[in-house]
Amino acid sequence: MTKKIFLTMLSGIALASSAAFAGDEPISVLIIDGQNNHKWQQTTPVLKKALEGSGKFSVDVSTSPGKDGSKEDWDKWRPEFSKYGAVVSNYNGQDWPEEVRESFIKYVGDGGGLVIIHAANNSFPNWKEYNQMIGLGGWGGRNEKSGPYLYLKDGKLYRDTSPGRGGSHGPQREFEVTTFAEEADHPIMKGLPKTWLHTKDELYDSMRGPAENIKVLATAYSEKSKKHEPMLMTIDHKKGRVFHSTLGHADYSMNCVGFYTTLQRGTEWAATGKVTIPVPDNFPAEDKTSPVKP
Ligand code: ZN
Repeated sequence: MTKKIFLTMLSGIALASSAAFAGDEPISVLIIDGQNNHKWQQTTPVLKKALEGSGKFSVDVSTSPGKDGSKEDWDKWRPEFSKYGAVVSNYNGQDWPEEVRESFIKYVGDGGGLVIIHAANNSFPNWKEYNQMIGLGGWGGRNEKSGPYLYLKDGKLYRDTSPGRGGSHGPQREFEVTTFAEEADHPIMKGLPKTWLHTKDELYDSMRGPAENIKVLATAYSEKSKKHEPMLMTIDHKKGRVFHSTLGHADYSMNCVGFYTTLQRGTEWAATGKVTIPVPDNFPAEDKTSPVKP
C-alpha cells in the first residue's frame, strides 16, 4: 500500500470516529443573569447544577451589569451567544444594548436553542422578537395588545383575545403538572407520568403574547384564573427552538426532580431537537413530590 492511500485511510478512520463520538461531546450552555425581581444569585447555581448533573452539558454563566451599571459596564457586556448550543435566560430586567439584542436575534434565528425560566418571561415587554420567541409573557404592561391569553378549554388549546392584563399568580403552593394529551409523544414529555406533583412554586396564570408556532406541553390548574394554564411550552422561532418553563420561582421551587428533568430534557431539545436524557426513577408521582436535596 502506498503511503498516500494509507494516510487517506487513516484520516477516514479519524473522521468516522470523531462523528461517532460527536454525540458524547457535552452541549455547551450559557446561562444569562444579572437582573431579576427574583433571587438570581440563588437560582442560577441551581440551574447550573441541574444541567451539569445530567452529564450532558457544560455550563457558562454571563452576568449582565446591574441596574446601577454604567454605560461603560454595558459596553463591555457582549455574551457570545453563537458559541453555545443553548442559552438559558434567568434574566428579567433592563433592555439590553442594541448590539446584544441584534446578536441574540441572529443567534436564535439562525437555529440557536433558547430556554426561558419563570420570570425571564416578564422581561422585555416591548421587544417584539423576544416576545415572539417566548410565545407568552406576563407583567410589564402586557395586555390584549401583546396577544391572546392561551389555556386549555374542554381539552383543547384556546386563544382568548378578551381585553385584560397579562400575568398573575396566586399564593405559592405545591401543584399538579399535567401533560397536554396532544403532546404526550413530544420528545421532552415522552415517558413522564401524565400528572406529577411539583414542589412549592408560583403558578403563573393569565399570560399573554403572540403565541405563534407554540406547543403547550403541560398545564396546571390555577385556582386564581380557574383555568388550565400553560406551564411547559416549546416555540419554533425561525430556525431556532425555544423551551419555555414557567416553573422555578425560587431555589426551593427548582429543587424538584420534575423541574430538573424537564429543564434538562427541554434544554437538550432546544439545542439538538432530540432528547436522550432519561426520566429518573425518582420522578415525582401524581400524589407525591420528589425534592432534590440542596
Ligand atoms: Zn416568581
